[in-house]
Amino acid sequence: MSSTRSVSAFLANLSKAQTKHNIFISTRPIKELQSTIPNSTTTVAIKDNICTLEEPTTCGSKMLYNFTSPYEATVVSKVKAFGSAIIGKTNLDQFGMGSATTNSHFGITTNPLFPTGQGEAPRISGGSSGGSAAAVAAEGVADYSLGTDTGGSVRVPAALNGVYGLKPSYGRISRWGVIAYAQSLDTVGVMAKDLELLESVYRHLDDYDVKDPTSLLPEFRDKIKELQGEKEQQNEGQVKYRIGVPEEFMIDLLSDKVKTGLTQSLTKLQDQGHEIVPISIPNILNSIYVYFTLASSEASSNLSRYDGIRYGYRSNEDTNAYAKTRTEGFGEVVQDRIILGNYNLSSGSYEKNFLKASQVRNELRMDFNKVFKFEHIFNPHPEIKGDIDFILSPTATTIAPTVEQYQQQTIPEGYAMDILAAPASLAGLPALSVPWFVDDEIPIGLQIISQYGNDDQLFEVAKLLK
Ligand code: GLN
Repeated sequence: MSSTRSVSAFLANLSKAQTKHNIFISTRPIKELQSTIPNSTTTVAIKDNICTLEEPTTCGSKMLYNFTSPYEATVVSKVKAFGSAIIGKTNLDQFGMGSATTNSHFGITTNPLFPTGQGEAPRISGGSSGGSAAAVAAEGVADYSLGTDTGGSVRVPAALNGVYGLKPSYGRISRWGVIAYAQSLDTVGVMAKDLELLESVYRHLDDYDVKDPTSLLPEFRDKIKELQGEKEQQNEGQVKYRIGVPEEFMIDLLSDKVKTGLTQSLTKLQDQGHEIVPISIPNILNSIYVYFTLASSEASSNLSRYDGIRYGYRSNEDTNAYAKTRTEGFGEVVQDRIILGNYNLSSGSYEKNFLKASQVRNELRMDFNKVFKFEHIFNPHPEIKGDIDFILSPTATTIAPTVEQYQQQTIPEGYAMDILAAPASLAGLPALSVPWFVDDEIPIGLQIISQYGNDDQLFEVAKLLK
C-alpha cells in the first residue's frame, strides 16, 4: 500500500492475473497506470456495473457492450478523492444476476486462490462481483475493490476468494451511478485482504448523497451515532457480546469444513468471554424464495429501459427490433429473470407472489428486530427488542466448486448459493464476510450480521476473529 510500489511489477502481476483468470472487462491504458500507480496510496478495481467516464460500463452484457456513461458514480469520485489509482472495470454476471461470474458476455472469471494447470480444474470466483473479488485475491493487483451486493454478490465471492467482503446497511453508501438490478436491495460493497484498509474505505464512502433518493438522511445517521454512544456508555469499555446463531442457518447443505470453521470461530469467541446463544429467525427459511420473487420483479421493471433505441446494443433487424434487441442483447439468465419478474407482477399473480413476498419480507425484518439489542431506527415497535449483539453464520455453504461442478447444477441448486446471504439483503442489514482458515490455505467465509445502521460493530467483531 505504499506509493513506492514498482510499476513494472504491478503491470506484470496484472497481466498474469488477467491472462489466467479473466478478471477485468477493461483496464486503464498502460500509460495512465504508469503515472497513477506510483502516485497513489492504493489501487482499486471497480465492478463494471458502476459508471465511470473513462471506459464503457457494460454490466457484463452484450446489451451495454458499447455504453459509456456521461457521468460517473458518486463512489467512483470518492475513491479518486481517497487517493486510489483505478486499475479498471471488473467482470460480473450480466446485470449482477448470478453467483459465479459464469453468466458474463465477456467470459468466465476463475478463482485465483486455486492453482490451475497440472490437471487442476478451474474453480468459480463466486458472483456476481467475481471479478472484483478475484482482483483482490490475485497477488499484487488491487488493494481493494468495489462490488455490488443485492443478495450476496459481494459476500459470496469474498468468501470463495478468501478476502473480506462488506455489504453495508441499505442506504449508507451512495448508489448514484450504479446500474440498478433490484433497487430495494442493491448496495455498493467493498472487498479487501486487509481489514483496516476495508474499514477506512468504508468510512470514506459512508456519506449522505443528495443525488441518491435512497441515501440514508443525515438526521438518521445522527440518530444511529446517538444509539451507538448510549451503547458504549452501557458497556463502560467492557464488551462482552451475546452472539446469536440462528438454527435456520444450520442446513444440510453446509459442508463439513464450513461446519468445522463455524464451530472453531464460535469457540474462539467463547474463550474470549462472549456468550453463544442459539436463536431462531423463522423467516430465514423463506428468504431465498422471497428474494428471487422480489429481485426478479424489480429487475423486470428496471431492465425495460434497454430497448435498443436509447443506448446500448441494437439488433440489425428492422422488423420487431425491440424484441430482437432484447433476445440478442440479454443472456439466458437475464431473460429468465425478466420472464419470472413479469409473471410475478402480472395481474393474476401479483397478490399471491409479489405482495405475499413483500409481506414475508416485513415479517423477516420483525424477526430480526425481535432478536437484536440495538434499536432499529425505522422499527415502528421500538419496544420489541432482543438481547443479541450480532449474528454469526457461514457466508457460503462450501468452498468454491469447480466451474464444471457449478455448471452441472440445476437453476434452483444455483440459487442455493445465496441461501445464507439473502436474509441480510432483504432486511437491509449490514453484513461482513470474514476469511477463516480451518486446516489448509483455502479459507471458508464467516458472516457477521448486525442490526440496521450498526455497521461499525462488524469491524469490532472481525478484529476479535483475527
Ligand atoms: N446471486 C443472486 C442473484 O443472482 C445475488 C446477486 C447479487 O447480489 N447481485 O440475484
